[in-house]
Amino acid sequence: MTETIMHTADQVIAATYKRFPIVLERGRGCTVWDTRGRRYTDFVAGIAVCCLGHAHPRIADAVARQASQLVHVSNLYYTIPQTELARLLVEHSFADRVFFGNSGAEANEAAIKLARKYFNDRGKPERTRIVSMENSFHGRTMATLSATGQDKIKKGFDPVLGGFSFVPFNDIDALAAAIDDRTCAVMLEPIQGEGGIRCPDPQFLQQVRELCDRREVLMILDEIQTGMGRTGTLFAHEHDGVTPDIMTLAKALANGLPIGAMLATERVAAAFGFGAHASTFGGTPLVTAAALETLKILVEEKVVERSRETGDYFWAALNQLKQRHSRITEVRGRGLMLGLQLDGPADDLVPVCMQKGFLVNCVQGDTLRFVPPLIVEKNEIDLLIQCLDEVLAQ
Ligand SMILES: *Cc1c(COP(=O)(O)O)cnc(C)c1O
Repeated sequence: MTETIMHTADQVIAATYKRFPIVLERGRGCTVWDTRGRRYTDFVAGIAVCCLGHAHPRIADAVARQASQLVHVSNLYYTIPQTELARLLVEHSFADRVFFGNSGAEANEAAIKLARKYFNDRGKPERTRIVSMENSFHGRTMATLSATGQDKIKKGFDPVLGGFSFVPFNDIDALAAAIDDRTCAVMLEPIQGEGGIRCPDPQFLQQVRELCDRREVLMILDEIQTGMGRTGTLFAHEHDGVTPDIMTLAKALANGLPIGAMLATERVAAAFGFGAHASTFGGTPLVTAAALETLKILVEEKVVERSRETGDYFWAALNQLKQRHSRITEVRGRGLMLGLQLDGPADDLVPVCMQKGFLVNCVQGDTLRFVPPLIVEKNEIDLLIQCLDEVLAQ
């Protein structure tokens, strides 16, 4: 059966993904099982998505209840889950309004459109340009790949959209020089995820905020990967003591159901009036019921606070590992968004860890990324460290 599934998939699904040769069938907490009955402790979590782990009983229940009540009606009507979710997001963030889409890329599309519309409404239609960061990742649609600072994402898709320029992450002088009177926004991740778990320098986000204020451009934070408790606070920018004008969320927002959200202050969100933007599926009752339950659990059960402690423990363990293995050049990240950089290719370690029962993934070729469910236990981290210890010794 496993072979048949893999063989069929390779024939009928677009070949855009290089998959590992396992067929995952079910999960529970931080564990997933494949069709051969093998179990894996999941330090990928669907790429920082399943923040409460797999098959969480409260989420499963919320989805089942909503599925048997109302799945979709369009945004021609009000619904309770969408309203409640927006209210809770506003309550727990800097933002006043939320626009819902279905993915990270869509959330960023909305942010890009809003930034342009904001200046257009203010009689400054020439302000259309966005300064983004080198090595960033904002998605795979035409606008968001154009906003992405990695050539490999754009290759073969010319002409990419104009209006985006790039400066090195953490280089405030380059950013200041790149902003001109045609700039509408600066767009960045508070920690670069796909770029290799790259953290901002201690003052960088504050400097970006001050620069944006001084030059009257909007600050867009892409918290699609860093948000929803991933870094030890609900949103990563809380560490830096700044708030953006626009923030995008997706990945962990509904613990695995497809959702994206763009949040903004009232002043900025006012540019999204009737008809300015829309999405058929955006904020549909089913996914917003899942997201609402996810956010409630994160808050009520103090998952974020606990994950901060687990993240510190993980960080210390990775640094001890670094002392034992000269191949490790750096440990980076925050909370439960951690990276282990090696002095050479790291992708060949991924299948070895998989054989030993651990799902991890590799970014930028040389960095192992760990983004487990926020409910990961210390003993699960201990076992991963033991696995890495063995694998790196070989
Ligand atoms: C994953 C990711 C995206 C894209 O999200 P999709 O849901 O795949 O469209 C955008 N920005 C960041 C920072 C991401 O990590």
